This record gives sequence, structure tokens and C-alpha cells, in this order.
Amino acid sequence: MTAGPDTTAPSREPWRATVLTLYPEMFPGPLGVSLAGRALAQNTWSLEVRNIRDHATDRHRTVDDTPAGGGPGMVMRADILAAAIDAASPAGDDRPRLLLGPRGVPLDQARIRDLAAGPGVLLLAGRFEGVDERVIAARNLLEVSIGDYVLSGGELAAMVVLDAAVRLLPGVMGNEESATSESFADGLLEYPHYTRPQVWEGQSIPPTLTSGNHAEIAAWRRREAERLTRERRPDLWSKRK
Ligand code: SAM
Repeated sequence: MTAGPDTTAPSREPWRATVLTLYPEMFPGPLGVSLAGRALAQNTWSLEVRNIRDHATDRHRTVDDTPAGGGPGMVMRADILAAAIDAASPAGDDRPRLLLGPRGVPLDQARIRDLAAGPGVLLLAGRFEGVDERVIAARNLLEVSIGDYVLSGGELAAMVVLDAAVRLLPGVMGNEESATSESFADGLLEYPHYTRPQVWEGQSIPPTLTSGNHAEIAAWRRREAERLTRERRPDLWSKRK
């Protein structure tokens, strides 16, 4: 399945995403609405979703088998996955290949920025107990985790990667400045936001923000961003020093 009708002629090649999954019907899902959905419709990016099961070779379309050494669950077969990857990403395709998995390197904004700056990405969504280890090195997959918890499949994780990358593509966000001031842009969490009403349930907006003094506002936001990062994310804070 390829999603993304051509309402606007693209001025450049779209950023290309391919997802390999056992559940293609989950896509585009949330990626079809709002910023990502509009960018998809405008061909800023393209989404190709391929069913791994199409590469099964038996009449039951089997993609998994029991774990070597015993134990619970099933493991996705290396030969089927390799065939799916090879069909989706022939020689010369220089997009990075990510395998979503809880054992992977933690996903962060720096990786998302690198992905968004490249030609696109191929994402492999696991299911069951995971994939046969041999396919990871053989097909140059980088295992990436979206957090220290276990999902039932890699599809939601793939959507997280795509949502975060697509919003950084040129022209996708209305206000380009938001990408430079938001959380992680400078190794800091973002400062707190306020809007009208001026007083709500007895709480006022911090006076600096309504002072009209832009230098003071910028300094206040910087101090607050640093305070929040120190308090909530000592790991990020210590990396800055
Ligand atoms: N047996 C695996 C383990 O303990 O590490 C968990 C497998 S999980 C039930 C099935 C699939 O969900 C994985 O192959 C992976 O694609 C996806 N998945 C689960 N948690 C994830 C996470 N934190 N980040 C990215 N993908 C995840």
C-alpha cells in the first residue's frame, strides 16, 4: 500500500518512509491527520507500507517459528524478513534501516534530526518475541527503542519515529521557530507556557511574560528551561556541562 495523494506538485523529492509490518492496516493511522497527514497529502513525505507476510513461502503464509533453545512465544524468521527487506530496499537505497525493539539504542531528538535530514527511513516493526538475531547484522539494521517498556508490536514505535521526523521536514511546521525553541533543541526541556485568561483560578501569568520586555522574557524562559531540566532530567543536565 502506498499512501499520499498528490494534491500539490512537490518541489523536491519526498522524504521516503517504508514500514515493514504484519499489520499494514494500522497505517497511516494517526500519521494521516494533522501536520503529518497534511504533509503526506502534499507529498512532502511518502509512506509505503509492506506486509511481511507477502514474503512467506508456505501456503499458511507463516512468518515465525518456535525459539531455538525452547521457551515461550515465537520468533520472526530471518529468511522471511530478509526477503521483505531486500524487496523494499534494493541495492543503492541509502536510507537507514531501523528495527524497532526495546533492546535498542534509546531514540532521541538528535537521531530524529539526522533522520529528517536524510533521504528517509526503512522501519521494521517486530511482533511476537522479536526477530531472529541473524537478520540484524546481515541486513544492517539499527535497533532503536522508544522507551523502557514493552509494546506488543513495533508499529506504534514506527509511528512515533515517523511523526517526530516528519514534523522537522522543511515546510511541515507552520512556525519554524518552534523547532529551535522546543524541548531538546538545545539539550534543555522547554520553558512553561501560559495564555489568557490573565488570572485563572486565582493564578496569574508570571508578570515578566506580560511586561513586553523581550530581553527579560528570553532570560526568564532560559532560567525556567534550565530549572526544569535540572529538576526533572538530571541526565540531560549533566550532559550539558
Ligand atoms: N521479547 C522482546 C523483549 O523482551 O525485548 C519484546 C518483544 S515485543 C512483545 C514485540 C515487538 O514490539 C518487538 O519486536 C518490537 O518491534 C516492538 N517493541 C516493543 N517494545 C518496544 C520499544 N520499547 N521500542 C520499540 N519497539 C518496541
